[in-house]
Amino acid sequence: MKSHSNYSLKTANSFAVESKTPHIYFPSSDDDLVALSQLLKDQTYYLLGDGSNTLFCEELAPVIVAPRFYGVEIQETELGFIVEAGGSENWHNLVISLIEQNIKGLENLALIPGTVGAAPVQNIGAYGKDISMYCTGVTWFSMLNQCATQFSNEQCQFSYRDSLFKHDGYNKGIITKVSFFFPKKWQAQIEYGELQTLPTNVTAKQVMEKVIEVRNLKLPNPETLPNAGSFFKNPVVSNQTVSNLQRTFPDMPVYPVDESNSKLAAGWLIDQAGLKGFTQCSAAVHDRQALVIVNKGNATGSDIIHLAKFVQSEVHKKFAVYIEPEVRLVSSRGEQPFSAIDVAPLC
Ligand SMILES: Cc1cc2nc3c(=O)[nH]c(=O)nc-3n(C[C@H](O)[C@H](O)[C@H](O)COP(=O)(O)OP(=O)(O)OC[C@H]3O[C@@H](n4cnc5c(N)ncnc54)[C@H](O)[C@@H]3O)c2cc1C
Repeated sequence: MKSHSNYSLKTANSFAVESKTPHIYFPSSDDDLVALSQLLKDQTYYLLGDGSNTLFCEELAPVIVAPRFYGVEIQETELGFIVEAGGSENWHNLVISLIEQNIKGLENLALIPGTVGAAPVQNIGAYGKDISMYCTGVTWFSMLNQCATQFSNEQCQFSYRDSLFKHDGYNKGIITKVSFFFPKKWQAQIEYGELQTLPTNVTAKQVMEKVIEVRNLKLPNPETLPNAGSFFKNPVVSNQTVSNLQRTFPDMPVYPVDESNSKLAAGWLIDQAGLKGFTQCSAAVHDRQALVIVNKGNATGSDIIHLAKFVQSEVHKKFAVYIEPEVRLVSSRGEQPFSAIDVAPLC
């Protein structure tokens, strides 16, 4: 199995922060995973895809496992297409390739960075769709039992930006393959945002092109302005809290979740706290998209954490609501909760 020691992760995370791992392993077969699970028994390690939802918070990172499982297989049935994709395939390339083959369904999820294997972990979603709508199962290699297990869609326990792999399955195994079914019967989902401008007889390819156009306009490209997309999750609060807040902020966007709870738009809260464009050291709240924190130059992981903690506390001061990171925060001790990360002095 390929591996390196004292390896820089600067090009392996979309925030482009410098962090070094003592060891990185690139398993590409179940045999490699068996060997690795024995080697890393009782050791802290972090499982890394393309690093587009990961912030290395310190100069030292833990041991890294970076799986390399490739290949896409497509089988046509009377009613649709069964697709099986290796966990290390690039998500956006998979979306483009399927649409080009007239296999429709993932068009709303174009241009989401990252790997196919990481996609079920947070049930990636955009423009009213998420991967759970088409994922029929996941092949997961258990590092504890040293064997592959199949999880059905139901067993993956998908919900908003969440799944089994963030809870009971967390850090216990590796997604090596994701299976999908795309029915031939297709209807465009264009009720969200700018997609509403599309005609009702739009094709899947046109939806994909619109999604790409809008995302390119709205979101900073990590290759030119390093970032990890939405830094914070949209907070879910009680309807009582919503009513209290609406007295002071009648224009506040609110999205119902269930009978008792609603979701607030974290980007709106940050914007209202006056933080759009706010910069500390080289870390900044993006000047057009307040939910995104960007690295404007040589920001370190701790610069970004420091800014994120400031944003969280300013939003709390104004709205009495805590916003929490969506991005996975990784220190030398492995992934950490936001509250457990010490903030180093400013640059
Ligand atoms: C500009 C930008 C826009 C974005 N827009 C969206 C969006 O619209 N919607 C959305 O949902 N997300 C969005 N994201 C977040 C990101 O694209 C997704 O979270 C993506 O799935 C991360 O993939 P990755 O391979 O980079 O994961 P990483 O950052 O490498 O890892 C993320 C998590 O998945 C785990 N993981 C990685 N690979 C595996 C595996 N094979 N098996 C098990 N666990 C694994 C890691 O341990 C970690 O916990 C955006 C990010 C950026 C930078």
